[in-house]
Amino acid sequence: AKDAGKGRFAVYDAALERTHEADQRLGADLRRALDAGEFTLAYQPIASLPDGAWTGLETLVRWPQAKIGPDTFIPVAERTGLIVPLGSWIMRTALAQLAAWEAEFGDDAPRHLGVNVSARQLREPGFAGEVRDALIEFGVRPDRFVVEVTETAVFDGGVALDTLVAIKALGVRVALDDFGTGHSSLGLLRTVPADSLKVDKSFVAGIGGASEEAVIASAMIQITEGLHLGAVAEGVETAAQAETLYELGYRFAQGYHFSRPLPPAEVRSHLAGSRLA
Ligand code: C2E
Ligand code: CA
Ligand code: CA
Ligand code: CA
Repeated sequence: AKDAGKGRFAVYDAALERTHEADQRLGADLRRALDAGEFTLAYQPIASLPDGAWTGLETLVRWPQAKIGPDTFIPVAERTGLIVPLGSWIMRTALAQLAAWEAEFGDDAPRHLGVNVSARQLREPGFAGEVRDALIEFGVRPDRFVVEVTETAVFDGGVALDTLVAIKALGVRVALDDFGTGHSSLGLLRTVPADSLKVDKSFVAGIGGASEEAVIASAMIQITEGLHLGAVAEGVETAAQAETLYELGYRFAQGYHFSRPLPPAEVRSHLAGSRLA
């Protein structure tokens, strides 16, 4: 039995090492891809309800050559630390893009642009300063910029929370992403300086009829109203979901029903088209 135990540990260690090695390999490839300029950004509209007009955009990174999505490579970028330079590139590229749209479309440009920021980035000592410098460099008003963070990124407090407070003091908006899927969601709302919640798509998916998800989605919009927070429903795929959300009190939504994440050229055509309209 003792030997079997030993064996199990040996197997466990080997599996850990494989994971570590795989991480290091993909991490090195991510580094090379960043240097080679292989990443691109897609922008998904956030729509107002019930009309579906675009109010803002969320930035989502893409790696076209690799055929894997951010759900696969972002966790590796976080574990290897590459998310720090990659995240800087994403933020700066997105802010430069917003500045270009503002220059071209003025009042018809998106009202806000969101960027996902990982816990690892928030723990970098210089991060809030980097945000401030980038806003100045690209001439973007702080209240046009939204930092999306997950509950788990900040729920244990510490440096990440301090950084978030510093970012918020710049006038940048903070959105709590994937809300309802992490730990201690409600208690967190007392300590995290959030402006809005993004209600996770798992609640939206089952929203039809008298489902538990509908009860939860309803409770969440009431909490945001009571706390004077904004709310965005994520992963809205059907007109029926959009309608139910509107009836529950949601005024902002995001999902394939309104638009998939789009390359910048398609965002630009849409903005040009709605200006003519
Ligand atoms: P997220 O921040 O929750 O982003 C929303 C995800 O839901 C995106 O997946 C988006 O394409 C997808 N989505 C949008 N509408 C719908 C819908 O109607 N139905 C369904 N089923 N899905 C929808 P994506 O682009 O694959 O990104 C996955 C995750 O990777 C993001 O989740 C975020 O956690 C992370 N991520 C993406 N881009 C970045 C980035 O630039 N930086 C960081 N740190 N993380 C990122
Ligand atoms: Ca997000
Ligand atoms: Ca989300
Ligand atoms: Ca997610």
